[in-house]
Amino acid sequence: MEVYGLIGNPVEHSRSPAMHEAAFEALDIDARYVTFEPAADALEPAIAGAAALDIAGLNVTVPFKEAVLEYVDPVGAAATIGAVNTVDFSTGTAPRGYNTDAAGARRALQAHDVTIDGATAVVVGAGGAGRAVAWMLTDSGATVRIANRTVDRATALASTLDAEGYPIDAIPDLLPEADILVNATTVGMQEDRSPVPAPALHADLAVLDAVYDPVETRLLSEAAAVGASTIDGVWMLLYQGVTAFEVWTGREAPVEAMNTALRDRV
Ligand code: NAP
Repeated sequence: MEVYGLIGNPVEHSRSPAMHEAAFEALDIDARYVTFEPAADALEPAIAGAAALDIAGLNVTVPFKEAVLEYVDPVGAAATIGAVNTVDFSTGTAPRGYNTDAAGARRALQAHDVTIDGATAVVVGAGGAGRAVAWMLTDSGATVRIANRTVDRATALASTLDAEGYPIDAIPDLLPEADILVNATTVGMQEDRSPVPAPALHADLAVLDAVYDPVETRLLSEAAAVGASTIDGVWMLLYQGVTAFEVWTGREAPVEAMNTALRDRV
């Protein structure tokens, strides 16, 4: 039996075990997915221990996504984004670190027929999710404007990506020209707030909220009310998991089974 898992702190309420175990079951793979909560200063021995115990793969969440870069070989854009959420131990060499949040956001948009190449996008937030989404959008051919509460973080990120950085109160000036809006802040997480003033929303937007708890955030309900297309954070969560599954197993993920398991949990 192979063992996969999630390390973070806290991980108690994670939906990843249900999603990945549904995938293993659907494809008849003899594997389990478990959660680990190492102490904040125990990341290095946790990764070394996982390798020594022959754990096949790990997802990584808060607060370890950035720090884990030190203990893995980054693959693809993980080093540029500065965060790893998927570790693959199967190569027999150093563990390899991937950022599947970027692919998760890209595939969530594509699954809803949103064209990224040539679009103008506004990303709200410049933390881990904001970096992954902004990188993905520029890499996929969009013109990207990043708005963040701490404007210096927006301009610093923008300068690494051939994007533009703005203070968060510039959003109403940026949205009239935008085709895509992504909330990559924590605003709306377990609260009824939106980082975007409702009057700035319009019907020509595709709005992706990275926040998935609640599934229907205030931003998404206000966007739907003006006729915008809306994509909830569970889609991004699903496709980051789908991409992680494909990295680990080399097999096409059973997306429907994973989606059902995930949405049963939320
Ligand atoms: P993070 O690194 O801590 O970044 C937090 C971001 O939120 C920063 O840009 C921060 O701005 C902003 N922010 C926090 N409080 C704010 C406020 N009151 N007003 C305006 N902006 C505020 O967090 P993260 O890892 O990027 O995660 C962000 C969200 O994305 C979380 O809700 C997380 O669950 C979600 N997420 C979802 C997925 C998915 O698959 N659906 C994947 C990854 C993350 P400052 O820079 O000014 O502090």
